[in-house]
Amino acid sequence: MGKSEELFKEARQYIPGGVNSPVRAFGNIGSTPRFIQRADGAYVYDVDGNKYLDFIGSWGPMILGHNQKEVLESVTEACKQGLSFGAATEKEVVMAKLITEMVPAVEMVRMVNSGTEAVMSALRVARGYTKRNKIIKFSGCYHGHSDSMLIAAGSGVMSSGVPDSAGVTKGCTEDTISAVYNDLEGVKEIFTKMGEEIAAVIVEPVGANMGVVLPQEGFLEGLRKLCTKYGSILIFDEVITGFRLGTDGASGYFGIQPDLITFGKIIGAGMPVGAYGGKRQIMELISPLGPVYQAGTLSGNPVAMAAGITQLTILKEHPEIYTHLNQLGDYFYGRLEEVIKEAEGFCSINHIGSLGCIFFTKEKVIDYASAKTSDTTKYADYFKFMLEHGVYLAPAQFEAMFLSASHKKEELDRVVELVQQYMKEH
Ligand SMILES: *Cc1c(COP(=O)(O)O)cnc(C)c1O
Repeated sequence: MGKSEELFKEARQYIPGGVNSPVRAFGNIGSTPRFIQRADGAYVYDVDGNKYLDFIGSWGPMILGHNQKEVLESVTEACKQGLSFGAATEKEVVMAKLITEMVPAVEMVRMVNSGTEAVMSALRVARGYTKRNKIIKFSGCYHGHSDSMLIAAGSGVMSSGVPDSAGVTKGCTEDTISAVYNDLEGVKEIFTKMGEEIAAVIVEPVGANMGVVLPQEGFLEGLRKLCTKYGSILIFDEVITGFRLGTDGASGYFGIQPDLITFGKIIGAGMPVGAYGGKRQIMELISPLGPVYQAGTLSGNPVAMAAGITQLTILKEHPEIYTHLNQLGDYFYGRLEEVIKEAEGFCSINHIGSLGCIFFTKEKVIDYASAKTSDTTKYADYFKFMLEHGVYLAPAQFEAMFLSASHKKEELDRVVELVQQYMKEH
């Protein structure tokens, strides 16, 4: 038995399922997790001495690669000055200015500790601002694990939301309406029926939690128009897309101004950080300025701010990183697309910039229903094959692949060959 297996056995005695976040348990692919000891550049190393080319990147934050020198140095420096004060610091001002400079749609921003918190707080201020209750979310989009977002997919356009987790009361989800990604007509229908009750529409501008699903032409623009028409708040959940596609996030990439944006992952550079921000007149409702309460003992933590500030500053000052990353993505996913075409009807692929996903279905994936046509057993088999060959993919079909600035073309070529080999043999 390897050390990973031993640790997993022990972990399960003390931690539910042996992990602190479910996808890590490898349950979706019927395997046991590798326990990671360290990481560097584009690689992670497990406790058994195996080395893997990493396509998770901590689910996005490590866009510059692991152990980026300046990020590491800034964190070490910040640690020496004290881990936390529970008081205002200059770093928080620097961070807030940086975000507002980089993302034009953000005029004010509040730091929190996770993406979940960012979304929960953004929904609260949207409701406080509009004095309305209902939220439209799209099935297949993930917005963290706060109660009102844990609603079963496709619970019917007009019916109120059904909880998707034990422990979430009907009351918590009854104001959440589930809609279909890329189905603007469906959203219009909801607005026609109850537009005056809709506080907000929350959407991942690129769906990155049902695999990768691109917004179709006019979808995001249509949501913007509907929200404006009915006085509802448009929230872009950019916990993944923020600073992933470019310096100004998906709102800049697609040229659409949401009212509020949530961030996480990349803005923390690997530290637990989230943020929400947007229009001044909305953000000014948050406590202590206004009546919408939101707080956090460790929010704006100086060590976390140091990591985030350094990573964002590098990205801001070197936009060529995105040119490189997006070209690398086009090249890599483009080659995979060809391999998939050769393997007629085996899979389909969606990608944008450095994000991509191979779906084990022949269908073009445009929403949650089409994503769900994927054969997850086949994905599990493919995952294991890749892992055995030193490639660490997401241990679940409905997750993205993340490229970092540390991934090299030659390494990606090797991955393409592996995928080709797998498809030939299966
Ligand atoms: C990861 C994610 C979240 C939740 O963030 P946590 O930091 O895990 O709480 C919310 N929204 C999106 C789009 C995400 O990808």
